[in-house]
Amino acid sequence: MNKATRRTVIAGNWKMNMTPSQTTAFIKELAPMVAGKDGCDIVLCVPAVDITPAVEAAKGTNIKVGAENVHYKESGAYTGELSAKMLTECGVEYVVIGHSERRQYFGETDQTVNLRTLAAVNAGLTAIVCVGETLEQRELGYTETLLKYQTKMALTNVKAEQLKNIIIAYEPVWAIGTGVTATADQADEGNGFVRAAVAEMFGAEAAEAITVQYGGSMNAKNAAELLSKVNVDGGLIGGASLKTADFTVIVDAAQ
Ligand code: PEP
Repeated sequence: MNKATRRTVIAGNWKMNMTPSQTTAFIKELAPMVAGKDGCDIVLCVPAVDITPAVEAAKGTNIKVGAENVHYKESGAYTGELSAKMLTECGVEYVVIGHSERRQYFGETDQTVNLRTLAAVNAGLTAIVCVGETLEQRELGYTETLLKYQTKMALTNVKAEQLKNIIIAYEPVWAIGTGVTATADQADEGNGFVRAAVAEMFGAEAAEAITVQYGGSMNAKNAAELLSKVNVDGGLIGGASLKTADFTVIVDAAQ
């Protein structure tokens, strides 16, 4: 396995944007623009209420639908949460876990990220697990330590054979939604730290096989350079995934 044989995944993260009707219109517009572009997997991770219209609109296309979070319990008194089974039954294939906005605003911890990751893969979902350092942590020189720690925590108790259902997204917190992108070398280095952590846990072969995305202000202008890096197997894209033209340029860059 190497960059050429690893799965490249371009995933949009819509955050709290788009209504159900906007979702249908967006996917109907996007589908012909990305049709036949099978050099990467194309995923849209959407708000909970948009899941069903997204799955409907994406039927018969090469666009796959993801959720933005999943709870780790199968059911119960967890108001506002969604179980993995609820998601799979709706046709969801991917789920974002541990996004920095969840960590920052909603009390997500490395422990809950791990539990959610286990629940997702045990249900057959592909987990897109986000890790990333703050600017302060970078400036203090802790980027490698932090990325390896977050990666290992997220993958605790994951079985080697489940790694094929896990994508790690390296998302420097200082680059998310800020318009400040990591340089291609910084992205490559961060993704390399993640891959090294996977190697330490599961061995070199597993580390070579796992898809590691970069996320943080990836856009139509910088995608090609970021995606050219040896450790960058795709992107998790916020703002630029809300415009069909920009998202298509990023998909094109990944072909
Ligand atoms: C994200 O939401 O994961 C993200 C990377 O956002 P943006 O592309 O807007 O920085």
